[in-house]
Amino acid sequence: MKISLSSEIGRQLAVMCIISLVSMLLLFYLFFNAFSNTFYADKQQESKHLTGTAHAIVEGFYELSLDGEINSQEAQKMALHALKSAKYDIDGYFWVTDASGFMIIHPTMPHLEQTDVNSVTDGEGLLLFRKFIEQAIAGGGWVEYIWAKPGQTELTVPKLSYVTLFEPWGWVIGTGLYLDDVAKQKNVIFIKSIGFIMIAFFFSALLSIYIARASTKAIKNLAIRDPLTNLYTRRYLNETEYGFLREDMKDKNSHLYVLFLDIDFFKQINDNYGHKVGDDVLRGLGAILEDQTRPEDLCVRYGGEEFVILTLNTSKESILKLAERIRLTVKAHRFSENFNLSLSIGIAVRHEEEDFTSILNRADTNLYQAKKKGRDCIVMDQ
Ligand code: GH3
Ligand code: MG
Ligand code: MG
Repeated sequence: MKISLSSEIGRQLAVMCIISLVSMLLLFYLFFNAFSNTFYADKQQESKHLTGTAHAIVEGFYELSLDGEINSQEAQKMALHALKSAKYDIDGYFWVTDASGFMIIHPTMPHLEQTDVNSVTDGEGLLLFRKFIEQAIAGGGWVEYIWAKPGQTELTVPKLSYVTLFEPWGWVIGTGLYLDDVAKQKNVIFIKSIGFIMIAFFFSALLSIYIARASTKAIKNLAIRDPLTNLYTRRYLNETEYGFLREDMKDKNSHLYVLFLDIDFFKQINDNYGHKVGDDVLRGLGAILEDQTRPEDLCVRYGGEEFVILTLNTSKESILKLAERIRLTVKAHRFSENFNLSLSIGIAVRHEEEDFTSILNRADTNLYQAKKKGRDCIVMDQ
């Protein structure tokens, strides 16, 4: 018969879990908002750096031509080859026009190469390459427009490019990022982060449930177990008596018996040997009672040196046997000091419709009779 897990602690735990989940999500929202802003700005900078790298590559070949190691034509050819084969991310590439609007290389739209692209427009009619050239001549900058993904012809995807001018050769070099890719990358990061938060929340909730259960169990044990004898407390008896009554009513063949036990002349043990020895005796008696009864019986330290046993049994004879076994075991037991200890025991069996207090009182009255008869004996209802 167990006490159910405190619903109050369960409720508080649920509230705590919800608060921690809400705060985690709130923090994540703030973090992700800030991250989204910087993510876009970082990507913008990335395209600028990439164009800068392309510019540096071209410059490297230009310097080789200045050193006389290769001629200018060879240097330009090698630079274009390097840029044409330079790919990054999923669909990043570089294109080069000259300042008059003549396309020199365009890796994903080779049909534009060697043509005049001054009249080429983006998805919204912007004269795109004219805009690039203007920006590059003005010192370099970003252009946002609608363009096609590599391998496709429809101009539908927003793109942001950075263009720069390589003055010695009059080249406009550009590269950009597809903004739908940026959004996709951001979404992947969002989903991964939420997943991570959920996993972290799941494990922290699991851990707090485990800790709460363990501490509830420890607290409950403190309330229901007597610290000296480790037997159940009177409070626990009050909580479980109903369960025993119900069992008694359910099964017509078995009856509820209450045994009231009291140590004889216990005061003298305290007086003669000290309180500590008295405590040892109580502890030893607790162990004997646990040992002599079944796991389904309930052994209670009712008060000082008084104990109660609740047991469901089919016959008076077996209860008498149990009581006699306990009495003899205690009598034969050698406690820390060598003295004789005896018990008086009163037993009552539940009458039909009888409540628990009444059976307990009758067991107590029988105990009193046992004391009156000279102690060290058992008195039971007829
Ligand atoms: P009787 O045979 O009539 O039961 O005599 P008794 O001396 O056992 O009964 P009485 O009620 O006079 O004394 C009970 C004693 O139990 C008194 C009290 O000091 C002692 N006692 C109660 N609780 C504890 C405890 O936790 N530890 C110790 N050492 N003694 C206790
Ligand atoms: Mg006593
Ligand atoms: Mg007593």
